[in-house]
Amino acid sequence: MSRHVKGQRQKHVPKRTCIACRQVAGKRGLVRLVHTEEGVRIDPSGKLPGRGAYVHPNQECWRAALDGNRIQQALRTKLSAADRQFLDEYMSDLPVQNDTLVVRGEIESEDAASQVEGRTP
Ligand SMILES: [Zn+2]
Repeated sequence: MSRHVKGQRQKHVPKRTCIACRQVAGKRGLVRLVHTEEGVRIDPSGKLPGRGAYVHPNQECWRAALDGNRIQQALRTKLSAADRQFLDEYMSDLPVQNDTLVVRGEIESEDAASQVEGRTP
């Protein structure tokens, strides 16, 4: 059926892991945080230099990342009060739950494949 699907449409899609829920998503489905000299910043362009971490743009993951100090671990830094406030404010603008931000097709093909492999009798 899908014999000649040769990845013409499937460009290389960088995958990242949400530090809160550990789900892998395409880079665009996650928000990048970067630890810069001025503190933690949101990096929509993905181009800021520095240690980055990825979180789903929803309050659930955001809160989990903040509460569990996962952001600090991932960025290997301590969040200052200003950083926290900044992240809290950012979170308040996010949707509460992850909607359809994850582009399913990109992930499912790989997941399905690895499941089949893992279940080899
Ligand atoms: Zn997440």
